[in-house]
Amino acid sequence: MIPVNTPLLSGNEAKYLQECIDTSWISSEGPFVKRFEKEFAAYNNRKYGIAVSNGSAALDVAVRALDLPEGSEVIMPTFTIISPAASLVYSKLKPVLIDSKPDTWNMDVDQIESKITDKTKAILVVHIYGLPVEMDKILELAKKYDLKIIEDAAEMHGQEYKGQRCGSFGDISIFSFYPNKHITTGEGGMILTDDDHLLERCQSLRNLCFKKGVRYVHEELGWNYRMTNLQAALGVAQLEKIDTHIEKKRVIGNAYNEYLKGVQGQVQLPLAQTDYAENIYWVYGLIAQSQEQRTYILDALGKQKIGTRTFFWCMHEQPVFKKMGLFEGETYPVAESLARRGFYIPAGLGIHNDEIKIVSNSLIKAINESL
Ligand SMILES: *Cc1c(COP(=O)(O)O)cnc(C)c1O
Repeated sequence: MIPVNTPLLSGNEAKYLQECIDTSWISSEGPFVKRFEKEFAAYNNRKYGIAVSNGSAALDVAVRALDLPEGSEVIMPTFTIISPAASLVYSKLKPVLIDSKPDTWNMDVDQIESKITDKTKAILVVHIYGLPVEMDKILELAKKYDLKIIEDAAEMHGQEYKGQRCGSFGDISIFSFYPNKHITTGEGGMILTDDDHLLERCQSLRNLCFKKGVRYVHEELGWNYRMTNLQAALGVAQLEKIDTHIEKKRVIGNAYNEYLKGVQGQVQLPLAQTDYAENIYWVYGLIAQSQEQRTYILDALGKQKIGTRTFFWCMHEQPVFKKMGLFEGETYPVAESLARRGFYIPAGLGIHNDEIKIVSNSLIKAINESL
């Protein structure tokens, strides 16, 4: 069995966890939480970090913290995980969708301006699978139309756009530390900002909006989205290794590029680089020629006990949003095609070279048989 992801826990994880047990600090009050917030913010050149229980929670808090007027429109990609769209809907905001680019799979920034109305208040950027969104255009539009930037950098630890850290562009930015991300805390998330007011809003919202001074009297509803000291202990240990993790992901990605170059043309491989970034291969994604070919390939790999996943399913095609009357009659052809043809193969930090070779050989065989 070669699973689609295995994390790498090769540093001080056990030592720091033992420290939590030895000192009895296991809740969110423990010292690793503040340390992780501080160190992760510093790594990303941000002033403040607010640790939370997962990346989706980070989005809920980040979106709510901006206090945008009810019914405001927020521009975001249709091709993404559901979390960012869900956070907008929870906060009574309207997601306005953008199609993807066929080469980078990111939101096509040239399609944004025509969707801006006087109700538009923010752009929610989601960096997809290993390459960043083209931020220059986003920054220009945000300035021109006075829009906030919410940055979902959940898949982008340590990645840079033109030499600047992803996660440092948003008025508010978020990360996830799920075990398939570049660093993990099991479950976990982080919000980053440079803004004192947003810091305070986020700290309050993740902690049930307890009022300072008057405990158990609330003027607003928040969530219990606190990160535990145990999670943060893992986070501090993982952060010590982040640069080697990113380097390893690139080695894995490049190894696949090399093994699979013979089938380029039969399936689309991920872009190794653009003029603004080098891929960090959060996942190693491929695009089959058709949905039928994808089904054939995934079945064949499954029979070899090789784990795979299909790509995200577009927001405008989600039954839950259709039931709410959202995105009626909208189509985004590039994203729809990615969702139907895209898949990814085992490329977690724990993968071994011989496994990469086995997966590549099985994949090449499946592709050839599928033609
Ligand atoms: C993983 C991920 C999330 C959600 O993070 P969780 O910690 O799993 O809740 C949000 N956005 C993107 C783009 C992700 O890849």
